[in-house]
Amino acid sequence: MADFLFEPHAPVSVPIARGGLFAVRRVYCVGRNYAEHIVEMGNDTRDPPFFFAKPADAVVVGGAAIPYPPKTADFHHEIELVVAIGKDGADIPVEQALDHVYGYAAGLDMTRRDLQALAKKAGRPWEMAKGFDLSAPIGTIEPASTIGHPAKGAISLSVNGAVRQTGDLGDQIWSVSEAIAHLSQFVTLRAGDLIMTGTPAGVGAVVKGDVLEGSIAGVGTVKTSII
Ligand code: MN
Repeated sequence: MADFLFEPHAPVSVPIARGGLFAVRRVYCVGRNYAEHIVEMGNDTRDPPFFFAKPADAVVVGGAAIPYPPKTADFHHEIELVVAIGKDGADIPVEQALDHVYGYAAGLDMTRRDLQALAKKAGRPWEMAKGFDLSAPIGTIEPASTIGHPAKGAISLSVNGAVRQTGDLGDQIWSVSEAIAHLSQFVTLRAGDLIMTGTPAGVGAVVKGDVLEGSIAGVGTVKTSII
């Protein structure tokens, strides 16, 4: 037994549809990847993609409920296609990018929008707006060997049964391949990394008691509720 001061935290993992667990290393997120959402946030669609991250232990699985987080009065949902990386790589060419994908899931980039707005205004980091506890509910991972690499298909989110967000994966400004190629210029991607690939229009606030159900055609679903 190594001489750890305290017992190391258990690895974070996401269930795989056909069985087994995907051990999570890092969670990267793509900012501004659907034109309509960029317009609703008042930004320019021509901006190049940028990335931020959430800690691995922000991941929530199994449809578990999440408590309304502290320090916000504007807690938002963002439904996103999540890419599960299965093979290491740096400076990955676009043409080889999908070789690094193990599979896909539906996920939620939960956001303290008021803190994000303050951070943007002050030119400060987004961590406390994006990378807080339990901010990344994720559904089951479907292997690409089963579902392929979905380049189009409806992506939507309902709150209490009412549709809030709708879009199509085909409307992503930067495809999964391009996002992987771009991100891997900045960091070495490793098996276990997740990439949340941005959200379509219709983001909005949730309150205690809300039930969130996200769906991506050909990929799967993600569910949580706010308690
Ligand atoms: Mn997002």
